[in-house]
This record gives sequence, structure tokens and C-alpha cells, in this order.
Amino acid sequence: YSAKNSPNHIRFYNATIRQAAEQKLHTLNDLRHAQSLGQFSLVYQSVVDLESDEIMAVEALLRWTQSNGNVIEAKDFIPLLEEAGLMVNVGQWALKQACLQMKQWHTQFDKNLKISVNISSSQLEHPDFIKLISNILLSTQLPAEALVIEITEGALIRRPIHISNVLTQLKAMKVNIAIDDFGAGLSSLSRLNSLPIDALKIDAGFAQRLDTPQGKKLCKAVVQLAQTLDIKFIVEGIENQSQRDCLQAMGKGMGQGFYFGKPVKSQQFAMDVLSHIDKPALEAC
Ligand code: C2E
Ligand code: MG
Ligand code: MG
Ligand code: MG
Repeated sequence: YSAKNSPNHIRFYNATIRQAAEQKLHTLNDLRHAQSLGQFSLVYQSVVDLESDEIMAVEALLRWTQSNGNVIEAKDFIPLLEEAGLMVNVGQWALKQACLQMKQWHTQFDKNLKISVNISSSQLEHPDFIKLISNILLSTQLPAEALVIEITEGALIRRPIHISNVLTQLKAMKVNIAIDDFGAGLSSLSRLNSLPIDALKIDAGFAQRLDTPQGKKLCKAVVQLAQTLDIKFIVEGIENQSQRDCLQAMGKGMGQGFYFGKPVKSQQFAMDVLSHIDKPALEAC
């Protein structure tokens, strides 16, 4: 007879499950009103050249500010948005917002950076996705070359012919395509080579394991894969100088992570990052 199977334990367990389920329903309900309450926002994180530390692009990341003021990170509510069937609408808002913001930064600052936007498979598979992209580019006046669409390996697996079609159309429009979290999922390498991909965003797990010889070899192999396929690479999740230095030695590429800068609100991003662009002389003083 173990305490685990005691009636009290079961009662407690059931109560815990019920609480978790109620909590989730509550959160889903809050999410349904979040958009009309203006609770979604974007934060921006730099993508930098590993060699020069120069900023090359900016990734837009979704945040949800709940009524109590708590700010929830994308990883903690994107799955719920999907489950509630809200991802397509919220994602559309995020895409437009990000393009508007970058267009504004293009006019405000001297450098024309790229804006990288995450697209989930439900968005990518939506029949109007191409129309949506062209409408947004038209209405925001952002050049297609300045937009990067980030999709995960998983989004390539379902409906491969349709997805291949969509990516080919995006490419024809001059939109850039990046594979996000690369190496964390199950990509077919031959498939990868047959799609019009501009960049591989190497999953943060690789940077995190650079302190072991095995991890270093693995990361090097993924970097070489990108180089072999003639695709740019961006290593995600760089948190310290030793990771940066190690990656820099692997070849010409880009990096992203807390070491270079955390994701911040647009105003702060403009002040901290963009206002320093083209002023290297000041920085040297
Ligand atoms: P992702 O596109 O791979 O974004 C990188 C995630 O890692 C972000 O989490 C970012 O805050 C975090 N991160 C960046 N640098 C570091 C670092 O150095 N260390 C660590 N530990 N983490 C770092 P976040 O914002 O929670 O986003 C999670 C995922 O949610 C994203 O992964 C992306 O797949 C998805 N997502 C975010 N925004 C959107 C959006 O607007 N639309 C869609 N469809 N998906 C989004
Ligand atoms: Mg991403
Ligand atoms: Mg990623
Ligand atoms: Mg991720």
C-alpha cells in the first residue's frame, strides 16, 4: 500500500487536474478578448553579423500583456492561440505591425534593415496567405526584399506540394525565407535543397552545447551544411562571448541571442540599437 495510491492522493490529484483545466479554459477565454483589447504587442531583437557585430536584421516576437499587467512570452501562449483557432488572425496583425514598424525605421534611420516575422503552419497553409503578404507589402510600402518569413521545419512536413508552391511564390515576390529552429526537428535534407530557402536559423540548442567537444562538432556540421547548400546561417540563443567566439571561428554567418541583445519594445529598440547605426565614430570615443 503506497501513499501514491491513497484515496487522499487521488482526490488531491483530481483537484489538481481540474484546477489546471479550469486555469487553461480561463486563459483561452482571456485570449479570445486579447486582440480587441489591444493586449498584443511586438518586441524586437537584433540579428547581427558574427564578424563585425553589425546589425543585419530584426526579429519581431509577439507578447501578450494580460489585464493584470503580466507580460506573457510567445512560447507560453502561441500553442493556446493555435488551439483556440486565433493564430491566423493574430499572426496577420503581427505581420502587418512588424512591416509597418520596419517601414517607419527605414524612413527614420539610415540603414534599411530586414524584418523577420515568424509564421506558423496554420498561417502558411491558409489559402489567402500569398494575397495577405502582397497586400501588407503594398499597404505598408515595405520592399519585399526587407521581409523575412520564418517557418519551422515542422511547417514544411504537412502538405509538402502546397507548401513548396507557396514558398516558390514568395520567392518570386522577392520575400526572404528562413527555416527557424533548424536542427531541432526532422528536416529531409533533399527537401531542404529543393526549396527556395535563404537562411537557416540554427536552433539555440546548438549554441548551448558548444562547451562540449561533441556539441562543437555537431554545430560545425550544421554550419557546414548551410555553407554546402549556399544558404546563410543564423545561430540562435547566443548568450555569452565564448559561444560567440566559437561560432565566429566556424565561418561567415550571423547570430542572435541575449549576448547581442534581448527582445525589447520598439521605442527602446530604436533608442538602444537603431540610433547608434552609422555612428561608429561616436561609439569609439
Ligand atoms: P523563435 O522564432 O525561435 O524565437 C526565439 C525565441 O527565443 C524567443 O522566444 C526569444 O525571446 C528567445 N530568445 C532569444 N534569444 C535568446 C537567448 O539568448 N536565450 C534564450 N534562452 N532565449 C532567447 P519567444 O518570444 O517566447 O518566442 C517563442 C516562439 O514563438 C518563437 O520562437 C516563434 O516560433 C513563436 N513566435 C513568436 N512570435 C510569433 C509571431 O508573431 N507569430 C508566430 N506565428 N509565432 C511567433
Ligand atoms: Mg523565429
Ligand atoms: Mg528559433
Ligand atoms: Mg523557437
